[in-house]
Amino acid sequence: MPEGPADLPHQPGLLIILSAPSGAGKTSLYRALLERVDGVVASVSHTTRAPRPGERDGVDYHFVDEAEFERQVAEGAFLEHARVFDRYYGTSRAAVEAERAAGRDVVLEIDWQGARQIRERVADAVSVFVLPPSREALRERLEGRGQDDPEVIERRMRDAEAEISHYAEYDYVIVNDEFEEALGSLVAVVRGERCRLDHRRETLAVFADRLMGKIDEAGG
Ligand code: GDP
Ligand code: ADP
Ligand code: 5GP
Repeated sequence: MPEGPADLPHQPGLLIILSAPSGAGKTSLYRALLERVDGVVASVSHTTRAPRPGERDGVDYHFVDEAEFERQVAEGAFLEHARVFDRYYGTSRAAVEAERAAGRDVVLEIDWQGARQIRERVADAVSVFVLPPSREALRERLEGRGQDDPEVIERRMRDAEAEISHYAEYDYVIVNDEFEEALGSLVAVVRGERCRLDHRRETLAVFADRLMGKIDEAGG
């Protein structure tokens, strides 16, 4: 929640898209962002892929079967959805809208196809692309995570090229070499966007009226 005048409540909250080739570090970065900055929440996607060891339904993803996913697509429940690595992934429209309406900034960890759909539908979305420092580092991170089979890693290395080819569609690009430095850049993006006039015109109008003595300090 607001920490001071620099973090005046803003409504709606920001919608921040985070994309990267698998293994570039976007999950690590966004988890650390959530710990570092108050008022930022994660959007929990729906997916038809199987849970990895340790992943919890409703926390990491909502794990659903294809029939359920298709039912929700037909209902218009997704703000965006896409097929990635032969599985379906989608972002719940209602969950994102509820968080933003409550003044919380929502981070979506989604691929370039989803990012493109969101940009078309949500004019004030902010998008960030995370790049690995090298191909070798990307492969090492995918292997080091120890969660995917060798053939899955090969597939993700090939898909990385397609994902990376879309970096120029994003507002911000962060190279995740030194983790703390990359995290600092991501935190700066969120704090910077919070200061933009167009993201919080209404709250600023009230704040400025108080500063100018037009309304008393106590209330409205
Ligand atoms: P990870 O990339 O190793 O974290 O693997 P995941 O299986 O968690 O995600 C695979 C891909 O699906 C990544 O490129 C994500 O950005 C993308 N993804 C996850 N959730 C969504 C979603 O709700 N919508 C879309 N369009 N893509 C998603
Ligand atoms: P993604 O969500 O993009 O697939 P992860 O966040 O799962 O990527 O990161 C992939 C692996 O790389 C994880 O094991 C993570 O701990 C590691 N990692 C992330 N960022 C860095 C970094 N800057 N330096 C070294 N290892 C990193
Ligand atoms: P996933 O892509 O499934 O969300 O996460 C992939 C791996 O990255 C998991 O093994 C997870 O434990 C690891 N991971 C996520 N966040 C961090 C972090 O902040 N630091 C480290 N060292 N590993 C992390």
